[in-house]
Amino acid sequence: MLANHSKDKSIVDKVFTVVAKAKEAKEKFGQENVIDATIGVLCNEDAQFVNFKTVSEVYKNLPDNEIAAYASSFSGDPKYLECVKEVVLGKNYGEEFKDSFIDAVATPGGSGAVSNTIWNYVDKGEKILIPDWMWESYKIMSEEFGVKYELYSLFDENGAFNTADFEQKAEKIIEEQGKVLAIINDPCHNPTGYSLSMDEWKELRDFFIKTALKGDIILLNDIAYIDYDFRGEKGAREYMEYFKGLPENVLVIFAFSISKAFTEYGLRVGAQLALSSSKKVTDDFKRANEFSCRSRWSNISRGGMRLFSDIVSNPELFDKLKKERNEYVGLMKERADIFIKEAKEEGIPMCTYRGGFFITVPLGDDTEKIGLELQKENIFTVILEKGLRIAICSVPKRQLHGLPAKIKMVIDRV
Ligand code: PLP
Repeated sequence: MLANHSKDKSIVDKVFTVVAKAKEAKEKFGQENVIDATIGVLCNEDAQFVNFKTVSEVYKNLPDNEIAAYASSFSGDPKYLECVKEVVLGKNYGEEFKDSFIDAVATPGGSGAVSNTIWNYVDKGEKILIPDWMWESYKIMSEEFGVKYELYSLFDENGAFNTADFEQKAEKIIEEQGKVLAIINDPCHNPTGYSLSMDEWKELRDFFIKTALKGDIILLNDIAYIDYDFRGEKGAREYMEYFKGLPENVLVIFAFSISKAFTEYGLRVGAQLALSSSKKVTDDFKRANEFSCRSRWSNISRGGMRLFSDIVSNPELFDKLKKERNEYVGLMKERADIFIKEAKEEGIPMCTYRGGFFITVPLGDDTEKIGLELQKENIFTVILEKGLRIAICSVPKRQLHGLPAKIKMVIDRV
């Protein structure tokens, strides 16, 4: 009965499958005896889910009707959208980006932002450009819309951003279809933890300026993990200055989410935030994406948007949240330091990590074998095509100590 375009759809979510396996092992052998590095959410040192207290208190105290009622518009509550602009671009964004046009549309998490962008900026049969190490949903969303994808190598031979490959592939797509939609998940890329340097962003800016002469460029900057950048709030956003004054046919869309930033994964609150030198481009952005919101999910959780704007517009509360969050950012740095130090000592490979929820151990064609063998030792990771993703966001320090040695032992065994 399925439509032709849906006949072969079947989702095997690698993350959710292995999360279930790890859960089963914990029930059987006890939490302490299982290393569960699969879960992409923040957990404390007792391996318990973290929900920031500042956030949950505000949410629980919202009036019932502010949670239960419909939102006031399809594109999102205006106060919420204003707060999104302030959080992404800085409180002073009006002054800082005074020559740019900025607009935003609320979406169900970053997922909604990515999927709306793919849907509205490429036609069926066209290609988008995504990294070879990636959040797998980019592929699923493309497939859903009949859109193809080309992969750029995220890393060059030195473990830095592969600017040459990105540029060459982007240029080829522009030559083929007159435009390119490219996704860069930065800072704190999932699954590797890579963040581009300022020099790398500067090079991309120069490329965008030069290449815009050949066709339109839509850069989708997925910033789901930006608040976990070890460079801090300001440092993590410095690269955005390179988005000022770009040619009118270059559009930057940020995929913003409160899932990680507020530890509110299930509330499904996020946004697309567009930045351009052309008013027509941001007007078109608003018009088309608002339409998609109406047709695809109608509107976003009123309580979720209110929660966000109540906190962001109250400096005392927002500072309290940042303080709470930063303690976990510090904890994650400690976890990363443990893993990286021991991985070096053991000589196991690692993708360049600069911050965020995940570290990836690249193992090429042996990945699956090693990942499955580790499961026999009660060590659960997400098995990607070419590497194992270790969710340091959820593994306590005491379990990270010794983990690289255990991985090494299994690598040597298979
Ligand atoms: N982008 C990346 C890279 C992610 O890892 C995720 C979630 O895991 C998202 C976006 C979107 O998450 P959400 O839809 O919960 O905001």
